Amino acid sequence: MFQIEAYTNGKTMPTVEMGAQCWEGYPCPFMSYCKGKLSAKSVMNLTTLTPSKRKHLLLKKYKTLDDLPRNISLTTVQWAEVNALQKAGENYDKGKIKKFVNRITSSRLKCYIDIEAFMPAVPIYDSCKPYTNLCYQYSIVNSKGNLLKPMDRIIEPGSDPRRAFIESLLADTKDAAVIITYNKVPDIAGPPRHDEEKSYFETRLTELSDLYPDLQPQIKDRLDKTVDLSEPFAQKYYYHPLLKGSHSLKSIAALMAPDITFNRLQIANSEDARAGYVELPNLSQDAQFVRKLALKGFLKLSVIAMVRIAEKLELLAA
Ligand code: SF4
Repeated sequence: MFQIEAYTNGKTMPTVEMGAQCWEGYPCPFMSYCKGKLSAKSVMNLTTLTPSKRKHLLLKKYKTLDDLPRNISLTTVQWAEVNALQKAGENYDKGKIKKFVNRITSSRLKCYIDIEAFMPAVPIYDSCKPYTNLCYQYSIVNSKGNLLKPMDRIIEPGSDPRRAFIESLLADTKDAAVIITYNKVPDIAGPPRHDEEKSYFETRLTELSDLYPDLQPQIKDRLDKTVDLSEPFAQKYYYHPLLKGSHSLKSIAALMAPDITFNRLQIANSEDARAGYVELPNLSQDAQFVRKLALKGFLKLSVIAMVRIAEKLELLAA
């Protein structure tokens, strides 16, 4: 409320009708307030439009989804969002989801994985630059048939964790036929990412491959087996208006596995996890033990959420 009063100088909230101006220049701090007053079928609820396409639709006076002619030029992703908003419920392309599910299906070992890295602003180890990602933790759920086996590792702080991290990860994934990750994306709406864009996991492993040439064949093997579970959501093979354009792991988990909640965790997001790891050496032995449990708990829940999302996709594809 204090912030809103600061913006409005204590006067009334905006009453101007939303239009193309809302997406021009700097992001408007009242966007969510003004969007809250829109009808569910307003074209301004579409999150996948480019600014020029939105402007074009508004200039043509297409205010609601019902005004849009079926022959209007929109991408497949944009139509997927239009269809979901029209239905006011989930919209999915069974064929595309089935194709994706085939890529993560294996009678051999499937390995769901999430990793964490911290980024010191000032380089603290050899071969570091400012904000180099230093991977220090991973959580894995191995899945074979109906059997799920969780495992995790935190590298002891105090020295460069990268070599120990990647050696341990390679050992723990050596039998995996498929490695399933979830791209870490900001929890904001926006056009879908490009196919060629690497996931967080792939980017970190590529950096480690450059750093340790002797491990390159093994790292390449794991990268070749990696599939990004965010793809069906980023590409809108599946969309629900409740997502409001987001395809972050937490948004998708809230929809597909609502019993999984991160709020009650002591560490509930990556930012706190990184800060919690960096602080470890300053803690007593007992406090370190408790902190490591909290770090593991957060990452483990993220990976379990991935398993549940994959199960839901399998149901949709059946
Ligand atoms: S979102 Fe911002 S620019 Fe758009 S109508 Fe509201 S106050 Fe004005």
